Amino acid sequence: MTLTKKPETKPAPASWGLAGGENPWEYAPAPEATDHIRIEPEYGLFIGNEFRPSKPRKTFTVINPATEEPLAKVAHASRADVGRAVDTAREAHRSSWSKLPGRERAKYLYRIARILQERSREFAVVESMNSGKPIKESRDVDVPLAAAHFFYYAGWADKLDYAFPNREPRSIGVAAQVIPWNFPLLMLAWKIAPAIAAGNTVVLKPASTTPLTAYLFADVVRQADLPPGVVNIITGPGEIGMELVRHPNVGKVAFTGSTAVGKMIARAIAGSGKKITLELGGKAANIVFDDAPLDQAIEGIINGIYFNQGEVCCAGSRLFVQESVYEPLLDKLKARLSTLRVGDPLDKNTDVGAINSAGQLAKVQELVQSGIDEGAEIFQPACELPEKGFFFRPTLFTGVSQSHRIAQEEIFGPVLSVLTFRTPEEAIEKANNTPYGLSAGVWTEKGSRIFKMVSAMKAGVVWANTFNRFDPTSPFGGYKESGYGREGGIHGLGAYLDLSQTNGTHGR
Ligand code: NDP
Repeated sequence: MTLTKKPETKPAPASWGLAGGENPWEYAPAPEATDHIRIEPEYGLFIGNEFRPSKPRKTFTVINPATEEPLAKVAHASRADVGRAVDTAREAHRSSWSKLPGRERAKYLYRIARILQERSREFAVVESMNSGKPIKESRDVDVPLAAAHFFYYAGWADKLDYAFPNREPRSIGVAAQVIPWNFPLLMLAWKIAPAIAAGNTVVLKPASTTPLTAYLFADVVRQADLPPGVVNIITGPGEIGMELVRHPNVGKVAFTGSTAVGKMIARAIAGSGKKITLELGGKAANIVFDDAPLDQAIEGIINGIYFNQGEVCCAGSRLFVQESVYEPLLDKLKARLSTLRVGDPLDKNTDVGAINSAGQLAKVQELVQSGIDEGAEIFQPACELPEKGFFFRPTLFTGVSQSHRIAQEEIFGPVLSVLTFRTPEEAIEKANNTPYGLSAGVWTEKGSRIFKMVSAMKAGVVWANTFNRFDPTSPFGGYKESGYGREGGIHGLGAYLDLSQTNGTHGR
């Protein structure tokens, strides 16, 4: 029997809370409320637990990338301000923080973690308004993980001797931390939690497009009664980041951002004796074998590249599919892509929000055009984009060759390149054919194959039958152009300690 008539679709009953119209399953808007948050019209630099204007007084405007409306003005730090912030942090390290026993430092970290949990809704809304990420992600991923980092490192603060047996762990002093715009609060937590747990003080520079949750965090610092000067936050352009990392009284540098800037920082501080961790770009391979559970893999692929609009250093931007399952997988992937909801980041149903800035959107558009020009085939679902704001349709390319720019360069947007392979050896060779080495994913039912792939792949993190999973206890970091050093876990703690002294005892 053949069906000649489409089944009738009726509007959903009003009680389902769905919008009317042809498609009974069209979602009604579900925007998160914003009346419970307060964004100040202007933020000064946060130095010594006080907000102070920059000297000379200068500001720049921060906008909402989903509406292009201004959100606040923030201070534009000068070179002298960097000096003030570092001096304040240094004095706080000398006079109070480094002298405090670990168990006392831990109490402050626990307090910060609990306040982050209590104020999680406020943080999630401000994060989405400022960065463009969907509220369901800031609410369910960014903010809880940020709190989890403080809880985790609170636990280590009084156990440094146990974490590093046979060493005499010592705090370094002032840590200069420069963070990007893709996970503003989470990157702050990755940087500040281990640093202060280890007894250092910090000066942190958020990205210029996304400083608002950092300044909200400054309020948490005061609420937690952290001694003045332990956490300092300054805003300003890239040059100010460079001033900060070069400052002679800084003992440790932690940077997350582009490979180009990471290299500049490494060159600038070479020979200074400063400890450094660099977490840079990526071009991760997500490899699907023919025995993988395809529906589960589809969710992992979607999460791997469209989570946070693909603005993720470890995004699974190169999908390698074993040839025998290429066609069914692609059909499923396209169908799933068409269900993604692009739009208002504050809507609880939104899957893909706004790109963080006009500049980043232009970069994504340019690379996508290069894919078309170089002969790859583009697929985008027919979704409507909001008229204002920096939005981009979730995109996938097929017919991609390894030499295409879209297969080589970090796009940092919702754009997936699909390639194929026949044997595990071919998959390994192709996956490692990149200057980056941050992360990778493997989808297969065979445990032995997972182990083989994991050991052969030049990537700091390899996920098996999942993707983009983060946990404060796991170290994270890269190979090759993706940087060096690890954040998270004990490794991330060690990066903030001077471990050069041995205590002469064994097996403690
Ligand atoms: P950047 O590397 O320029 O920015 C990251 C941070 O570094 C920001 O706080 C930025 O400040 C600061 N910064 C910029 N220039 C300097 C400098 N010379 N010295 C010290 N600090 C500096 O990244 P972009 O925002 O320009 O993004 C460009 C590309 O980088 C993206 O398309 C993506 O491919 C990659 N990227 C990777 C990230 C990752 O997580 N690995 C994160 C962000 C970007 P300011 O914001 O004021 O410029």
